[in-house]
Amino acid sequence: MNGNLLQPYPLIWKKNDVFLKVFCSIPQLATGILLKAGNKPYVIDPGDGILRDLNSEIGKENILKVEHIFVTHGHHDHVGGLWSLMTYMHVMRRKIPLNIYFPKDAIEIHSIYKAFLEVYSRDLSFEIKLNELEGKEHIELESVKVFPFKVSHKEIIDDEKIEVPSLGFKFVVKGVSVCYGGDTAYTPKLAEMVKDSDLAILEAGAKNSASSDMHMTINEAADLGGTAKEFFLVHVPK
Ligand SMILES: [Zn+2]
Repeated sequence: MNGNLLQPYPLIWKKNDVFLKVFCSIPQLATGILLKAGNKPYVIDPGDGILRDLNSEIGKENILKVEHIFVTHGHHDHVGGLWSLMTYMHVMRRKIPLNIYFPKDAIEIHSIYKAFLEVYSRDLSFEIKLNELEGKEHIELESVKVFPFKVSHKEIIDDEKIEVPSLGFKFVVKGVSVCYGGDTAYTPKLAEMVKDSDLAILEAGAKNSASSDMHMTINEAADLGGTAKEFFLVHVPK
């Protein structure tokens, strides 16, 4: 947050009805975020450890009330906990549907979903709804409005940089706004969405101080964060 760029996890923020906790966001390991609007829990980037962290934070019963999971992109450190979270819901015989929102063509989500159905579809207790997003939608869920937007993130395959289907999300709860960019280089659209947000959660994943088209540097992310009312820097390499 302002004045103290790198705090230890978890990062916690509250304003009016909104509670937000970044359990962890370490490149190549895991990112997991909980947003609560009143008592209603939403999960953003279910990285490894999300089931354990939700159990500590909201308890077993409330995990079963999570209806909406938002995924910025399919890299393993952002989705590694999805299987265990869904399996827990299944073994506890959850009944309500689970919605997963993710960038169009994120192959990892389709693959996890397909494998999960292959294993559990004979007696799956709840429906899983996949919601592929282009990044132009407006989603309204109870008191939460969600504005996904395209960001710019890449991976290296055979020395070639390949664009990864990636989104940021802006959540607005009764006038309180939280903007999370996921993994991304600086883009004008990101800057537009971050500006004047009550909280911006921004990655600073570039491995050195040189500007990158895959991640932001700490300086880039902090400058951008300064256009929001408060900000967290996450996904900082150790
Ligand atoms: Zn990534």
